[in-house]
Amino acid sequence: MSTTNQALFERAQRVIPGGVNSPVRAFRAVGGTPRFITRAEGPYIFDAEGKRYTDYIGSWGPMILGHGHPAVFDAVQRALLDGFSFGAPTEREIELAEAIIALVPGVEQVRLVSSGTEAGMSALRLARGATGRSKFIKFEGCYHGHADPLLVKAGSGLATFGFPTSAGVPEDVVKHTLVLPYNDIAALEAAFDAHGKELACVMIEPIAGNMNFVRASVPFMTRLRELCTSHGALLVFDEVMSGFRVALGGAHSVYQRLIPGFKADVFVFGKVIGGGMPLAAFGASRDVMRHLAPLGPVYQAGTLSGNPVATACGLATLKEITKPGFFEALGAQTQRLVEGLEGAARDAGVPLVGDSEGGMFGFFFFNQLPQNYATVMTTDSARFNRFFHAMLDRGVYLAPALYEAGFVSAAHTPADIDATVAAAREAFAAL
Ligand SMILES: *Cc1c(COP(=O)(O)O)cnc(C)c1O
Repeated sequence: MSTTNQALFERAQRVIPGGVNSPVRAFRAVGGTPRFITRAEGPYIFDAEGKRYTDYIGSWGPMILGHGHPAVFDAVQRALLDGFSFGAPTEREIELAEAIIALVPGVEQVRLVSSGTEAGMSALRLARGATGRSKFIKFEGCYHGHADPLLVKAGSGLATFGFPTSAGVPEDVVKHTLVLPYNDIAALEAAFDAHGKELACVMIEPIAGNMNFVRASVPFMTRLRELCTSHGALLVFDEVMSGFRVALGGAHSVYQRLIPGFKADVFVFGKVIGGGMPLAAFGASRDVMRHLAPLGPVYQAGTLSGNPVATACGLATLKEITKPGFFEALGAQTQRLVEGLEGAARDAGVPLVGDSEGGMFGFFFFNQLPQNYATVMTTDSARFNRFFHAMLDRGVYLAPALYEAGFVSAAHTPADIDATVAAAREAFAAL
């Protein structure tokens, strides 16, 4: 082997802050040396030392078909031959917009961008522009990208405006951001009582994947919809992670099944819709989207937006996941994993609970499923970190932080899942 992960990490740290281009990749939460990946194939990734891992991150969600799916590969190759970027409209952008609209009722128009951060930031600006209001609610533990007004943590007490979670974000910029605990109806009602008529929107990860895996409860979501409607605030579903991942119609379709007549107002997508290429989107009804430039006064733009190669990759990915039975099979595989982990933990006397929807899952070293960020952060992190490394040693690549969700792809076979559960059995025994 010509190099090691450690050697690459040292070299990377000289020229890239922390050696990584996105902080969680640095393994700070779990300790140890990040793996430098050289290639990927199906459900596996390979590091610089030639070691193979079963991949449960899938580039943090996009790789729902696994790596190197032939149909996607082919579509990208063909697109490349036609040109990398034009900065002018293409038919493929229309096709992708049409595909998204067909799958998510409530979306009548979309704007394509290059990252979830951009999409979330633009959706917020659109909600503010469309309502003429500045304040908005977000929930503790939900991540909507790293735009300034969204990098906010809760203040003390209920219904307080937040504090920046990052240096470089002025308090003035987050003074309109109200941060509430997830799944807390009383806090939500108090916030609407105090500020309802000033709220442009409420932004939520309906099935949150950035505090491990936490679902919004049905009563909470029902009340949230009622309050938004009665106060004229837009309900923004950030489905960058859950969209086209937990179900073909995203978490929105899950709540539409559970709550009669339910509909969100604004939608944010990313990850799966790019199939691994830089692509994201936000969408809403025509009535909301007409506020966006060039039709309306809300400005938003991007040199590489709707990139022809990225749209080809996204379209090919959506085509595959739309095939009959895709989500049934993926959901069954994911459930097999979570139940396997729970069973192995139970046999070892280790408290562990898990949950999944479609191809997204989470598990906690805890006795019940947490309902909010504060509870997630009280789960056993020392045990999680030991488990993470025990699994990594055994060739299983889980998310390197207890507050991240996991992902199964269509390329994971029952044999892959069973091998992972067997590895977990050993790891639990060693904990
Ligand atoms: C990943 C993610 C984002 C940010 O997307 P990027 O492409 O990383 O900028 C926003 N919202 C949610 C829910 C996400 O999971």
